[in-house]
Amino acid sequence: MSTPGDARDPLFERELARKLEAQERLDDADATYLYTRARLEDLERWATEGRARFHAPARATYLIMRIINYTNVCVAKCDYCSFYRLPKSPEGYVLPRAQIFEKIDEILALGGDFVGFNGGHNPRLRLPWYEETFAAIRERYGDTVEFYAMTVAEMMYVAKLCKVSYAEACARLKAAGVRWITGGGAEILTNEFRARHSPLKYTADDYMIAQRAILDAGLKSTATMVIGFDETVAERVEHLRRVRALQDETGGGLFSFLSWTYKPYGNELGGQELRPEDYLRHLAVSRLYLDNVRHVRTSVLTQNQNALRGLRFGADDFDIPLEDEVTQMAGATINRDIDQVLAQARAEGFEPVFRRVARERAPAPARAPVRLPLA
Ligand code: SF4
Repeated sequence: MSTPGDARDPLFERELARKLEAQERLDDADATYLYTRARLEDLERWATEGRARFHAPARATYLIMRIINYTNVCVAKCDYCSFYRLPKSPEGYVLPRAQIFEKIDEILALGGDFVGFNGGHNPRLRLPWYEETFAAIRERYGDTVEFYAMTVAEMMYVAKLCKVSYAEACARLKAAGVRWITGGGAEILTNEFRARHSPLKYTADDYMIAQRAILDAGLKSTATMVIGFDETVAERVEHLRRVRALQDETGGGLFSFLSWTYKPYGNELGGQELRPEDYLRHLAVSRLYLDNVRHVRTSVLTQNQNALRGLRFGADDFDIPLEDEVTQMAGATINRDIDQVLAQARAEGFEPVFRRVARERAPAPARAPVRLPLA
């Protein structure tokens, strides 16, 4: 994609500044300008002002969480993925339930209350497997743990595999105790991007239908995006436009918007990592364009310390993740030193405040906190 630094356009920029001042909605040309021509220092200032419309200026919230990658078996074969194994691979796995419980116990012992499930499109795992797994988690932990049950993309696959509608799949998952189906697996939501890199997964149009079904079923959801593949600026803007339109249509059904960056190692697509400043630029554009999404989240998982700098570019919330095999296999490094991550947020001028997700507080662990092995 083109890089910023092209000649600025004073007239365009004056009108853009007026719109921002008047809190008018930005259009696609504005977003394109911000991606390609605005100065980083202007983006920082504008995004900080945009953030202040929603959040206290010197405060940021965070979660302690882990992703539980319950299976790496997948038939979607996305070319940007370093994680999946085909069904007959000897390296394929499905986590036994006891191991899932162990991972949840560890996060509770570390003071977290939240896990996200993310796995491949495994043809051996049908809807009852998910219903039973999530019901067992609710039964064991009640409201002391909250979880993102699966991503939109996984729900779509399982619904198709079991030949049920998205609405029926969502209703059954909800009856099993699911409250969230997160907007993961979105990467770049254009039909062209899907056709180039993951034609077997879904089309962007179908993804939007599925996410609408999730919200219609009374489940909660989020929006996500991954940047740094070969997507064009126009494709990034289309993705943002789809999110904003769904948010308008559903009256604010999406809790948050999280972007992370593509890691190019160990997969078919390869390529280069995105420059840190391009991530900051993207956060700022997201904050300014998505005027109907309250939370813009920054990705410590893929951006490490730069993610905390993102709090100055419009983000207001971050995860401290302890595990995510999908991005770790593609080159992400995880910092499990929670105090150090919090100190990095403070060094950027923000007081980090723990965001509780579960409805009830878990009892204090009976044993010493678990020390997770280094990656
Ligand atoms: S990104 Fe997800 S759907 Fe695509 S191949 Fe990897 S595990 Fe499968």
